[in-house]
Amino acid sequence: MSYRDTQLFIAGQWQDAADGRTLAVHNPATGQEIGRVAHAGIPDLDRALEAADRGFAVWRDTPAIERAKVMRRAAALLRERADAIAPLLTQEQGKPVAEARMEVLAAPDIIEWFADEGLRVYGRIVPSRNLAARQLVLKDPVGPVAAFTPWNFPINQAVRKVAAALATGCSILVKAPEETPAGPAALVQAFADAGLPAGVLGLVYGNPAEISNYLIPHPVIRKITFTGSTPVGKQLAALAGQHMKRLTMELGGHAPVIVAEDADLELAIKAAGGAKFRNAGQVCISPTRFLVHESIRKDFTAALAKHAQGLRVGDGLAEGTQMGPLANPRRVTAMASLIEDAVQHGATVATGGERIGATGNFWSPTVLDNVSLDAKIFNDEPFGPVAAVRGFGTLEEAIAEANRLPYGLAGYAFTRSLKNAHLLSQRVEVGMLWINQPAAPSAELPFGGLKDSGYGSEGGPEAMEAYLNTRLVSLMNV
Ligand code: NAD
Repeated sequence: MSYRDTQLFIAGQWQDAADGRTLAVHNPATGQEIGRVAHAGIPDLDRALEAADRGFAVWRDTPAIERAKVMRRAAALLRERADAIAPLLTQEQGKPVAEARMEVLAAPDIIEWFADEGLRVYGRIVPSRNLAARQLVLKDPVGPVAAFTPWNFPINQAVRKVAAALATGCSILVKAPEETPAGPAALVQAFADAGLPAGVLGLVYGNPAEISNYLIPHPVIRKITFTGSTPVGKQLAALAGQHMKRLTMELGGHAPVIVAEDADLELAIKAAGGAKFRNAGQVCISPTRFLVHESIRKDFTAALAKHAQGLRVGDGLAEGTQMGPLANPRRVTAMASLIEDAVQHGATVATGGERIGATGNFWSPTVLDNVSLDAKIFNDEPFGPVAAVRGFGTLEEAIAEANRLPYGLAGYAFTRSLKNAHLLSQRVEVGMLWINQPAAPSAELPFGGLKDSGYGSEGGPEAMEAYLNTRLVSLMNV
C-alpha cells in the first residue's frame, strides 16, 4: 500500500525544510517506518508566517461567495479522493479503513456547512440615540490563525479549524501531528487543487513546543486554536494570554455514562459499547466512566464484556477489522499502567486487560468492573479501549460523580424516564450530553467543553464567531 513522504506547505508550494530535517512516521500496526515528514525550523516558520500574512490580505478581500466556491470545490475533491486517502490514515494512525473513510467523508460535510455559514456573516445596525448618527456593528475576520491539531483524528480535528477560518476570511497556518502527517496533507492538497490562493492555508510539522512557542507570541498571528491534552492546552493558553491572543481550546475529557435503573440495556450496550471502542478509545468524547445503577450493574458489565470480546482486533487495513492498534507506544504503556493501578485499587477485569502480541500497539478491548474512585483510570483521561464500570444507588449520586472531575466535555445517559432525562440535562456539567444515543456531532452543532475541557466551540455559529472580530463604527451626519 503506497504511503508517501510529507512535506511542508508554505506559500502555496510543497517543500522540504530549509535544513532538510525529517522525522520518521511509523505504522502502529507493524511498528515499521513507512515514511518521513519534513521538520520545520525557524526559517521555515518565518516564511510560513509571511505567507499567512500575505494570504490574509488576499482572502479577507475575497467576497464570501467566492470563498465559498473554493471551499465547495475542495469538499468535492475530498469526496472523490476518500477511497485513496482512507488507507493513508489507517497506515499512520491505525484506525480501521472503514472508520478512516468515514473521517475523510465527514470533512466535505463540515467544509460545505461552514462555506454556507460564511455567506451569512452579518453585522447589524443599532438605532442611535442621536438620529444624525448611524451605528454599524461590523464582523471582520480576526486575521492569521495558528492551529495545533492532534493525531487521533488527523483530518477531522484539522478541518473543523480550517473550515471555520476560511469561511470567515482568515488565513490559517496548521501545525499538524508529526505522527500522522499524510491525512492533514491530503486535506491541504484538496484546498490547493481547488484554487485557494497561496498563503491562505499553510501546513508545518516539527517540534510542537518549538513551533507553538514561536507562533503564539508572533505579531502576525491573531488567534490560536488547539486540540489536545489539558496540560498542554493550559500551557498554550497561558502563553496566548501573555500576548492577548484570541483562543479556542478543545481539550481532554472523561465522559461519564450514566445508566439509570430504567435504561434500555440493549440500547446502552449498543450505543456506548460501540462508541467506547471506536478509534480504539482514542477519542476526546469517548465514553469512559460507566456509572451503572447497582441493580443492573452485573448484567451490564457482562453484556459490555461480551460486546468487547466480539470485536475483531487487527491491522486496520485487513478486511473486517473492527478495532485497530493504539496510535503510538505511549498509549500501550498508559493502558498497562492504568489497568494495573485499577486492579490494585480493587477492580476486577471482566475482559481484556492485556497487550495483544509483541508487534504493533495492539491492546485487547477491556472492561473493568467495580472500579474505585481512587483508581487513576477514574481520574485521568484513559484515551484507550478501556471501559471502567462502577455502580451507583441514586441518580443524584451518579450526577455528583459525573461532575466530580475537572473535565466537562461529553456525557452520556440512558434512561426511559423523562423526569430523569430532564434532571440530567440540567445538572450534568458537560459541553455535550447525549441521552439514549451515541454521540452524533455534526458541523451545525456546538462542539466543545466546560471546565478543564477547554473553551470555545468548534461547531455551529459559535465556531464562526470565534474567528470574527466585532467592531463598532458610528457615522455622524455633519
Ligand atoms: P501530549 O499531551 O504530549 O500531546 C497532545 C497533543 O498536543 C499532541 O498532538 C502534541 O503534538 C501536541 N503538543 C504537545 N506539546 C505541545 C506544545 N508544547 N505545543 C503545541 N502542541 C503540543 O500527549 P500525547 O501522548 O500526544 O497524547 C496523549 C494525550 O493527549 C491523551 O491522553 C489525551 O488526553 C490527549 N489528546 C487529546 C485529544 C483530543 O481530541 N482532545 C487528541 C489527542 C490527544
